[in-house]
Amino acid sequence: MALNRLFPNSFTAKVFFIAFLGTHVPLIAATAFLFWRNGGIQENAQLALILLVATVVGTALTLASLHAILKPLYSIGAAMLRFETERKRTPLPTRLNDEIGQVMKLTNRLVLGVDAELRETQEAASTDPLTGALNRRGFEQSLNATSAQRGVLLYADLDHFKSINDTLGHDVGDQVLLQTADSLRDALRRCDILGRFGGEEFVIFLPDLTLEEGTAIANRLRLTLKDSVKLSGRALTISVGATDIGSKAEFADALSRADKALYRAKTHGRDRVEFATALAS
Ligand code: GH3
Ligand code: MG
Ligand code: MG
Repeated sequence: MALNRLFPNSFTAKVFFIAFLGTHVPLIAATAFLFWRNGGIQENAQLALILLVATVVGTALTLASLHAILKPLYSIGAAMLRFETERKRTPLPTRLNDEIGQVMKLTNRLVLGVDAELRETQEAASTDPLTGALNRRGFEQSLNATSAQRGVLLYADLDHFKSINDTLGHDVGDQVLLQTADSLRDALRRCDILGRFGGEEFVIFLPDLTLEEGTAIANRLRLTLKDSVKLSGRALTISVGATDIGSKAEFADALSRADKALYRAKTHGRDRVEFATALAS
């Protein structure tokens, strides 16, 4: 289309050009006819001046009105761009019922839907469906997102879990995992991060605590679990390895230290907490 070639980057310019054609072609034709019949511009100076002033005022009014009616279109573009670049939603006004108003309502619905779906997909990709705890990916994301730089990492593993599965069945095993996660979640602070990495292994980050404080929390979690989850009279126990994290960048080293401490807890009789400090390694 010729208009696209004339004004490739401005919709406003296209609409203005159409308005210009609609009013100025008849106006120029009428003026030319009048001047031809009644002499040139000099003979009709007053008329020429009125036409000039009216054209300037009319152009200014047209441009201002165009800007006003196209404003919703600019808002739609800005809202889409903000969602695309920052993933932030900007609800658009819904009072208009014309074509642009319909597009605004549709944009609101689409952005809301895409946002909800993205959230759902992200949550599914970062959580363990059985217990609702974070999986390793989600745990590492939360760890990176938290403002705390240091804290304590706990590596907890249920004791003799295989025998629960073997004697009571896999479904009961699943229920135990769910109850364990619930019990840990209830006992933790909102800022603590709970993850389930393997079958019956839970990893917990306790921001801003010292190793001594973190070890005390680990013992409290161990005792709470023993009290809250009962299996046909038998208590459920966990072994925990605790270590301090001096900087989140050392997460992998800290996890391996906590795993070694956990191994010690297992070999020293289970149902206990062992710790390993970063300073010793
Ligand atoms: P230990 O005290 O040394 O930790 O002994 P354990 O029996 O807990 O350790 P082991 O690693 O031998 O067994 C872990 C078991 O966890 C084996 C596997 O069948 C079970 N498991 C892993 N994932 C799941 C799961 O999602 N649901 C259920 N029910 N069981 C699981
Ligand atoms: Mg185990
Ligand atoms: Mg295990």
